[in-house]
Amino acid sequence: MSSRTESIQSMAENYLMANYGQRTIALVRGQGVNVWDSDGRQYIDLLSGLGVNNLGHCHPKVVQAIQRQAETLLHVSNLYLIEPQAQLAKMLVENSPADKVFFCNSGAEAVEAALKMARRYSYDRYGGGRHKVIAMNNSFHGRTMGALSATGQKKYHKGFEPMLDGFIHTPINDLEALKNAVDDSVCAVLLEPVQGEGGIHPCENSFLQGVRQICDQRNLLLIFDEIQCGLGRAGHLFASEEAGVEPDGITLAKSLAGGAAIGALLAKNEPASALVAGTHAATFGGNPLSCAAGEAALHVILDEKLPQRSKEIGALFMGRLEDLHKKYPQHINEVRGRGLMIGVDLAFPAADVIAFLREKGYIAGPAGPNVLRFLPPLIIEENILDAVVELLDGFFAGRN
Ligand SMILES: *Cc1c(COP(=O)(O)O)cnc(C)c1O
Repeated sequence: MSSRTESIQSMAENYLMANYGQRTIALVRGQGVNVWDSDGRQYIDLLSGLGVNNLGHCHPKVVQAIQRQAETLLHVSNLYLIEPQAQLAKMLVENSPADKVFFCNSGAEAVEAALKMARRYSYDRYGGGRHKVIAMNNSFHGRTMGALSATGQKKYHKGFEPMLDGFIHTPINDLEALKNAVDDSVCAVLLEPVQGEGGIHPCENSFLQGVRQICDQRNLLLIFDEIQCGLGRAGHLFASEEAGVEPDGITLAKSLAGGAAIGALLAKNEPASALVAGTHAATFGGNPLSCAAGEAALHVILDEKLPQRSKEIGALFMGRLEDLHKKYPQHINEVRGRGLMIGVDLAFPAADVIAFLREKGYIAGPAGPNVLRFLPPLIIEENILDAVVELLDGFFAGRN
């Protein structure tokens, strides 16, 4: 280990809270699908940061947009019009089912905005007492108290109780359970079309269509958390396009600004209109820097047809992982995913194979204890994924 690495690690241990666990590798530079650590070792990033660097690291168009914007204007308050904010909103609306956008700085904040929009819209329209949100078991929506309460995994709640009142959890792909959970106190349904942190679990098309119907019948807002599965990751610009379902609200963050911090709530006109002046805000929300980066990133996603690419390359990769599943049924329980959002459900802890891949120069991650998660940059070349499959083949063969 170099002295630079040692120095970073000792500072981190001495001065940072330990909430990310022990970290031993410092990634100091990135370009395209590659990152380098402080010892000069090269890795291929099959996780895109964590679903963020979908265009690869330091995409030249994003870097250029940030450089230009940094020289021009870094921050002004939302008491004034902000040109990149308006432009990014226009692009998002023109390419989504939504009519209006609110910007913030992270995924959790986007979810909080969605929860507040749902409650306020329901309050304005139907009066009080209709504050509950149905979310899914095994979901993940972020770490702030509202988003955490919406998150349907006990392990994230432990020791932070009581959770916020007003969340009901039902299983994905179970319309009956959802239908039975709706009563006069419910205002919205919130779900990930493809669950990410929960282990890469896609919702069936028929489920999303059925949820839309229930929401229409019972006057509930349908909000899709596309923070991880959106923007091309799951083979469409929005994962829910697969089912042909239009939500009333969409949360975005992670990859939206090509690596810069951003979050967004997109919504149809009616629910969006609930957030009148003074109801919600974020100091850094829609700041010039993030929005300029977002514009550049979204242009690349659309111009280079990355959702289509994700769908095609993802299908090839999934196919080859399926072959491994057939070859090693004792090690692999299931391969799940959409596009380039893929989970390999293992019969043993995913940490073993993640460590093996890292040793070979590939960064993958877990999604829960036994699921190996791949979220490679959407620009990844097929031959790299073939090499990963070869390595995995060797790994599983060695475990026999
Ligand atoms: C990552 C994630 C979030 C939280 O985003 P943060 O930026 O970490 O707050 C919310 N929902 C989903 C689906 C996510 O994957």
